[in-house]
Amino acid sequence: DEVRIQTALLSVSDKAGIVELARALDEKGVRLVSTGGTHKALAAAGLPVMDVSELTGFPEVMDGRVKTLHPGVHGGLLAIRDDADHKAAMDEHGIAAIDLVVINLYPFEEVRAQGGDYPTTVENIDIGGPAMIRASAKNHAYVTIVTDPADYSVLLDEIANGTTRYAFRQKMAAKAYARTAAYDAAISNWFAEALDTPMPRHRVIGGVLKEEMRYGENPHQKAGFYVTGENRPGVATAALLQGKQLSYNNINDTDAAFELVAEFLPEKAPACAIIKHANPCGVATAPSLAEAYRRALACDSTSAFGGIIALNQELDAETAEEIVKLFTEVIIAPSISDEAKAIIAKKPNLRLLAAGGLPDPRTPGLTAKTVAGGFLVQTRDNGMVEDLELKVVTKRAPSAQELEDMKFAFKVAKHVKSNAVVYAKDGQTAGIGAGQMSRVDSARIAAIKAEEAAKSLGLAAPLTRGSAVASEAFLPFADGLLSAIAAGATAVIQPGGSMRDDEVIAAANEHNVAMVFTGMRHFRH
Ligand code: 5GP
Repeated sequence: DEVRIQTALLSVSDKAGIVELARALDEKGVRLVSTGGTHKALAAAGLPVMDVSELTGFPEVMDGRVKTLHPGVHGGLLAIRDDADHKAAMDEHGIAAIDLVVINLYPFEEVRAQGGDYPTTVENIDIGGPAMIRASAKNHAYVTIVTDPADYSVLLDEIANGTTRYAFRQKMAAKAYARTAAYDAAISNWFAEALDTPMPRHRVIGGVLKEEMRYGENPHQKAGFYVTGENRPGVATAALLQGKQLSYNNINDTDAAFELVAEFLPEKAPACAIIKHANPCGVATAPSLAEAYRRALACDSTSAFGGIIALNQELDAETAEEIVKLFTEVIIAPSISDEAKAIIAKKPNLRLLAAGGLPDPRTPGLTAKTVAGGFLVQTRDNGMVEDLELKVVTKRAPSAQELEDMKFAFKVAKHVKSNAVVYAKDGQTAGIGAGQMSRVDSARIAAIKAEEAAKSLGLAAPLTRGSAVASEAFLPFADGLLSAIAAGATAVIQPGGSMRDDEVIAAANEHNVAMVFTGMRHFRH
């Protein structure tokens, strides 16, 4: 199953390492053939290399759109070497066998990520490259295909004796199809964005492995991080400035944290969210970032231990000084000041991420979750309370401050696992109840957490006194409302739409509580 490498076709956009590879091949007596730009690079390095147009007898035309799309190339890639008919066709048409193909594609993904304009992006859709990759990979019984510069050294090890083994060619073929599939998925996703048709009918859901993690949610599970190339600042695009590689759970929690904090526009006020197990244990806005952190921490400082912190603006020195006082797993912010970097450096295990910006909570995008036998895909929950028509349903209308707190609480509730009940006061969470099967239990848990926080802060009363409370889905009965009122809430925000809305409204009126319906639900499971 060993195939001697006699002729190699090299056609690469990313020229890194190609001269060294070609030189090593040349030293083994491999005949080199190349396309325009690659040919130029190899010839400039003094290597003997044939231009592909010499091989095809046809020039590169149409600005390189047609370079290798020729039977002289594809016949040489696809021919079954020991088939008499194929041999005869090669002889008749003067087609030479190509044993090794080294290609990397036009940088479509990079151009897309950099927000290239429409014509530039289209021009970066490689046609001849994928055609050659797919042809070579199909014919892996004879042809070796390399699509990743990281594999050049692997290839050189493999061909130490001048040949490649079947198992190697097969592995490289599998990798090649993964590459062309991911490439086409990126194109499909770009079209979906360009045409604003996010639904899966119009696109391939695909991603490329960014990194393998040491393990998954638990140590006995394997895991990888696949990225879709969506142009969204976040954990997929962030630069890790210090600390160990992020774990599976870190990535999940960091995403939850950053998406939540991005709900708060940086120009309005600094905001901080602290996350544990994908749920917030405290969120706050304040005139300064350090104050926002302190207030977010105050909500549940016990749970915040070992948490993930997300900030909606540049991490400054004052906030960094506060953060390093407590054990934290990850910090993510749009950027990090140099002073803050130096302060965080004192905690070398703390993972520090600079995302390069904040995601826009209104952009659609997709989210997915697996079920046995498939996955569910939906557009991102990009509903914003600011865009909703809020309907006051009680006799008493909320005060301006209550309305602010309501909106704040509802924004946070959107990012809490259902059933979610969130109490907020003066731009900070007072108590968060997450993930209970009963909404009343979520309300109770939130109130208990608020009482504990008050105790540890030495406050006379929990912050739920005089707070606004949000429920991410309608209150089905008055009991959840009564539990919130017992905790001290004076204002309630919820989607409304329950069969028993009247009962709930009557209970609110009875207690002189102001209630607002949003008409939008934010389930999160
Ligand atoms: P070079 O820099 O050598 O001129 O071009 C290398 C790039 O051209 C590679 O990324 C390769 O995938 C791509 N390529 C090779 N043949 C063709 C072709 O016939 N059409 C198009 N559009 N791209 C090609």
